[in-house]
Amino acid sequence: MALRVGTNQMERRSFALFLVSLSCFSRFLSASPGDADPIYKECVEKCEKTGCVGEKCFQHCNFSSDGNSIDGPWYLQEPLYVQWKQWDCLGDCRYHCMLSREEERQKLGYQPAKYHKKWPLRRIYGIQEPVSMALSALNLAVQFHGWVSFFILVNYKLAFRPNKTTYYEYTGLWHIYAIVAMNAWFWSAVFHARDVDLTEKLDYSSAVALLGYTLFLAIIRAFSVRVEAARVMVAAPVFAFVATHILYLNFYDFDSGLNRIVCVAMAVLQLVVWAIWTVTSRHPSRWKMWGVVFGGALAVILEMYDFPPYSGLVDAHAIWHATMIPVTYLWWSFVRDDSEFRTLVLTKKTK
Ligand SMILES: [Zn+2]
Repeated sequence: MALRVGTNQMERRSFALFLVSLSCFSRFLSASPGDADPIYKECVEKCEKTGCVGEKCFQHCNFSSDGNSIDGPWYLQEPLYVQWKQWDCLGDCRYHCMLSREEERQKLGYQPAKYHKKWPLRRIYGIQEPVSMALSALNLAVQFHGWVSFFILVNYKLAFRPNKTTYYEYTGLWHIYAIVAMNAWFWSAVFHARDVDLTEKLDYSSAVALLGYTLFLAIIRAFSVRVEAARVMVAAPVFAFVATHILYLNFYDFDSGLNRIVCVAMAVLQLVVWAIWTVTSRHPSRWKMWGVVFGGALAVILEMYDFPPYSGLVDAHAIWHATMIPVTYLWWSFVRDDSEFRTLVLTKKTK
């Protein structure tokens, strides 16, 4: 998932970032010091032409002047495959230019610099950010586990209404949440495994969608909106806004600064909503929601403390992903408690 910030503007953003904790996240300072370095730039440009960095050459960089693949049978000349090769070539060039530049900088006594918004991380089996990728996959698994346990609870353990629907009024909304969240973590894992334009857009778009949906959910649950028409009135503006923003990012301008503002605003709003709810509610599991809010805050503090990677593998972003695991666990635990609590209240009423 996409949250990375630069060190210089940290303080000012600290409050805003605290609130960004639940889902979508800005990784969006357009240029990083590493890739603005003229020596690095020249290295990448040269590599894309020659296919080599120093002694090391990459087979993916075999293009003719018109951008077609030079060798291989017809299917290797297909536009899609050529596009894939170009991505591979650019990825390899950037990676090896970064390694060689970082080696030089280290000898001169400089600290590691960020390249294309990321710290110089070592690849493992071609995976660009192995730890962030593994933790995204783990988050996906925790979401799946939370969803399955909720599914079993509402379908097999709690009482049904006479018309065979659940007493709990938010069942369907949580099912959709699970799908939106798992989709976001899936693309996060893909993006951290392989950062190209397409995977970056999918990761950001999915994170925006998740954030928009959790905002909608926060309003519906915290204000106990149970009437269908009222829900539609909340959903319409939120979803219209989120859809417009995603279309704008993907097809008009991938404006990371704007995206940051949009994400922060949506996150601030939903955390304020939950905070009001936890203060005013007498829900038996409201402490779990506090836990989610504080856990999220801790996660973002870790992310803000944007240190260079440890052993070239574990950076602040990876640790941010790690802290989302217990937060997600607590979140689903709250959802299960909520379904039991509401069912109990409603069955008592009907008796
Ligand atoms: Zn991420």
